[in-house]
Amino acid sequence: MITPRRTRLVRVPELQTFRRAIAALAAPTSELRVESGLIVVPTRGAARLLERSVDADVVTRDELYDRLQARLADPPRRLTPLERDVMAQAAARATAARGHELSFQLRPGLVAEMLRFYDQLRRQSQQVQRFEELIDEALGADEGDRAAQRMRLQTRFLAGAFRDYEARVRESGACDEHTLRERLMAEPAADPVRHVIVTIPDWIADAEGLYQADFDLLTRIPGLESLDIVSTERVLASGFHERLHNWWPGLEETDFAGLKPCAKPTAPNEVAQGFSPARPVLITPPGGSPDEPWWTLRDREEELIAIARQLKADRRAGEDVPLERTAIVYKNPLPYLYAAAEIFHGAGIPYQMSDALPLAAEPTSAALDLILDAVSSRFSRSALIALLRSPHFVFRAADTQVGPCDTETGAAAGADVGADPCVGLEITRASVSALDRALSAARYLGELDRLEALAGDWGTGASQPAMDVTLTVARALAPLTETHPASRQLGCLLAFWSGHARPIADEDPWASRERRARAAILDMLPSLAAVHAAHDDPAWTIDELGIAVRRWIEDQTFVLDSEERGGVHLVDDQAVRYGDFDDVAIVGVVDQDWPERPRRNIFYPPALLKALGWPSEKDRRAAGDARFLDLLTSASRRTMVSTFTLDEDAIVSRSMQLDEIPRARLSTVARQPFEDARIFADEALSLEPIAFDPFPGDALLWAEMRTKRTPADAPGFHGLVHGVAARAWSVSAIETYLDCPFKFFAQHVLKLEEEPEDQEVMDPRRQGQFVHTVFERFFDAWQRAGNRAVTPANLDAAREMFTAIVDRALEHLPIAEAGLERTRLLGSSAAAGLGEAVLRMEAERPVAVTERLLEEKLTGEFTFATAGGPRTIALRGKADRLDLLEDGTFRLIDYKLGWPPQRGRALQLPIYSLCAEQRLAGHKGRNWQLGEAAYLAFKGPRRVVPLFATATDRAKVLAEAQQRLADTVDAIERGEFPPTPDDVWRCETCSFASVCRKDYVGDV
Ligand code: SF4
Repeated sequence: MITPRRTRLVRVPELQTFRRAIAALAAPTSELRVESGLIVVPTRGAARLLERSVDADVVTRDELYDRLQARLADPPRRLTPLERDVMAQAAARATAARGHELSFQLRPGLVAEMLRFYDQLRRQSQQVQRFEELIDEALGADEGDRAAQRMRLQTRFLAGAFRDYEARVRESGACDEHTLRERLMAEPAADPVRHVIVTIPDWIADAEGLYQADFDLLTRIPGLESLDIVSTERVLASGFHERLHNWWPGLEETDFAGLKPCAKPTAPNEVAQGFSPARPVLITPPGGSPDEPWWTLRDREEELIAIARQLKADRRAGEDVPLERTAIVYKNPLPYLYAAAEIFHGAGIPYQMSDALPLAAEPTSAALDLILDAVSSRFSRSALIALLRSPHFVFRAADTQVGPCDTETGAAAGADVGADPCVGLEITRASVSALDRALSAARYLGELDRLEALAGDWGTGASQPAMDVTLTVARALAPLTETHPASRQLGCLLAFWSGHARPIADEDPWASRERRARAAILDMLPSLAAVHAAHDDPAWTIDELGIAVRRWIEDQTFVLDSEERGGVHLVDDQAVRYGDFDDVAIVGVVDQDWPERPRRNIFYPPALLKALGWPSEKDRRAAGDARFLDLLTSASRRTMVSTFTLDEDAIVSRSMQLDEIPRARLSTVARQPFEDARIFADEALSLEPIAFDPFPGDALLWAEMRTKRTPADAPGFHGLVHGVAARAWSVSAIETYLDCPFKFFAQHVLKLEEEPEDQEVMDPRRQGQFVHTVFERFFDAWQRAGNRAVTPANLDAAREMFTAIVDRALEHLPIAEAGLERTRLLGSSAAAGLGEAVLRMEAERPVAVTERLLEEKLTGEFTFATAGGPRTIALRGKADRLDLLEDGTFRLIDYKLGWPPQRGRALQLPIYSLCAEQRLAGHKGRNWQLGEAAYLAFKGPRRVVPLFATATDRAKVLAEAQQRLADTVDAIERGEFPPTPDDVWRCETCSFASVCRKDYVGDV
């Protein structure tokens, strides 16, 4: 029998009255005790805010089911989301195995979407059978339509999987939300809930709203005596009112005046029936256009900075309200929560937030990812080194006693380092860095057996401790590279993670947050393993393990701390409806967030979903606009709305909902300019006059010291150093200076090593060495065979010899790499190789070669003609090839694997030419003159690129190069190393970008 109940719609004009109405309804009366009533709100954040003003049990939709379940005389066990997901995954696989044709691949994420779709169907009061019938009806009888056939097949599969899932739920003896709902309606509770106040509309008007099945439950659940639905007029007018009357024809309605007076007025002017809401004014930007009563800032950070400046300016002007009476409202919490931590902390403005943070964004989740990456990359150098360097783990020499995970149990075998993480010496960063370089030099590209082979004769250098630990780590994780049951894979991951997690120091300021994040992971991994062991334990590869772990971490959130904190409220647009605020700033009103985009259904197009009861976009949009307008009048004093134009680096558009603002009929007041309000500690020191007031104690001493520091424009901060000893620089190093002086400084003065990179093929430096070696061997062999010049007559013989030398050199390279290099040197049917270009160049020249000097060292002091007269400069260099010709001239060849350098910047070829002339003086009783200098470039339109074309050109090119050399050497000796690249694009691939103050780059 259905309990007689009063079901009532309480219509309120706006949100201020909405909150008073909830307080009035929740006040205990002689008939209804506080503990027998529930108030349903959209989110936990909303619940936290409402709990400050009403003494009642405030619940979200999920919590409503928890409370109702707890009141049953013999409550069934409720399946956890993990269990439901695992059952759904098993049901989907079993259905597919029964021969259902599938037009998509069954992935865990897709099955999660299937379960979400099933939940929505059931919450719309649809059974699986009815779902199939409705789709069939909507598709019609057109058997020739292939798209319709595909939809039918998909529907059969989905219905089969849903039925299988329902059978598994029944067999488990536990319940999910849907079976619980059936039981709640059938079985009277021991201590029933007697009064429910619903403050959210349906899911069509609000994504967090109640579903038809929820309203149905509240209509039929035994023991419920009173059901009040509170809604604003705007939301009702968006279509919710009509839907309510469709569900409950003749539904009783009242307004706020029809409620009893508040038992506990919360504001001085509050007398229930006489309550008249304050009308906030809309604060517009100083000098803004009346057509755009909102603020447009550059990005989210600028929005918060503008608010912080206004708060400070209000305080100075005596127009402030307590910070707790101010709310910053967003749709998308995360970017604002992270930005607020920096901006409000820096401005000394306390704040509080009611949103939970995602576990996935916590550093400890990223640390778990490092383990997964190390395994999925098959122990690549970079992934292993990243794991060893992570501050979240500790790896000690004693760890080498740990064996691999036990694949039967998933536990770490051997010594349990997790039991005493202080045993043994921790490997040093220096040892890990040495290992990084050594593995790169050994061209280690991953795989445990290759690591084992390298470790066999590794020696005892600085990298040896790290190598020992790396080997142990890889062995411990090796079982994860194979396919094992899901529960074991999870156990193995958990054992490694907890065995190596660095203990959290009590004095660590992030200790509490880190403990919460770790606790969440320590709860999730064993639960997931247990659920798989109990219900479905498929064989998982490392990729499947990674997908499952990451998916569950992405679903987890955690609240930072529960203690009451004062300050400005940071709340989402759901929660703010439940808080009394004087000032409300609505931020981030951009197209991508306002109105909220509905979650796209991946199975059916909107036309078919309509047949299942899904709302139209028009209904959603009308409700979204209604809620936005409600929000504008929620504050009692001032409202401000802002949008931004840049999201990270992407340009974004403002929301079209901003055009709704005039419909709120608020008076507008332009804000007085406030830009000069200093709010950050750095502004106190960097803007005149300097203020020390914000700095107490030690901070004051530091602040005073910092103001006495060398001025920021001192040359020392811009690349000038003293004491760089004069020395013989290599010509290629001097060319680097011309690329960027700071790059030269980092590479040749500081001698910083570039981060190594692993590549399947040789990196450009190794490639250059390889090509040089091949040509050197060829010409050496050519000369030793009694040949001199390559001529048209012996060109074929030269080709043959070159091919043989290339093939011999390729024997030492891996197959893929050898194929690439062979094509580069010997060419293909489509294009000639480098060898052909080199041989032809010589064969086409009329003057014969008498001697060839290969990889000729040009080191020592050389004299150059400069504008200031002759200069002697010590240099180091090596010419790739010097051909001495019969006519007493020589030809200088420089091999370039890439493009030839611009002639106006090149140094090596012209300077080597001059050095060679000086070094060859008297060689074989002759004075040798430069006849030709050319690049043999392996990229660009021409293979042979001469340094100069005519005698006049030659003189000009050589004169300019000598002056350039002298000027560059002078700049180096003066210690000038500013970060001024010749082209700012160079910074994109520069290895020293992380140590370079390239904020100067904008000035060059
Ligand atoms: S990042 Fe740019 S400015 Fe800095 S060293 Fe490299 S090239 Fe020079």
